[in-house]
Amino acid sequence: MFDRITPEEIWACTTCNACVQECPVNIDPVSIVLELRRYLCLEKSAAPRDLNIMFTNIENNGAPWQFSSEDSLKWATDAGIDVPLMANLFSNGKKNPNTCFGLAHQALLTIGLKR
Ligand code: SF4
Repeated sequence: MFDRITPEEIWACTTCNACVQECPVNIDPVSIVLELRRYLCLEKSAAPRDLNIMFTNIENNGAPWQFSSEDSLKWATDAGIDVPLMANLFSNGKKNPNTCFGLAHQALLTIGLKR
């Protein structure tokens, strides 16, 4: 199989699903690509470098980043952003917070890219 398709080609797929939608005989190339990726990772330990770094981070930190999940809000603290946590809102008696912003949304608001 790998004399016909290279790892670069396997990892180049963006899983956009266009080939699945357009295939006239209902072949699902994306599931084949995903199985090939699984094979490369699990059997050959041949994931791309960035993915290997992420796997190591998950193994060591429980998160894909190079820091502990307990430090996941450190960027907000460093930037002076007060990000309310649902756990804190509930412990302060707020039962149904009517707005829940994701961190990315909060960050975009902070730097003025979103209204
Ligand atoms: S999902 Fe199909 S069309 Fe989309 S990038 Fe992957 S192989 Fe190409």
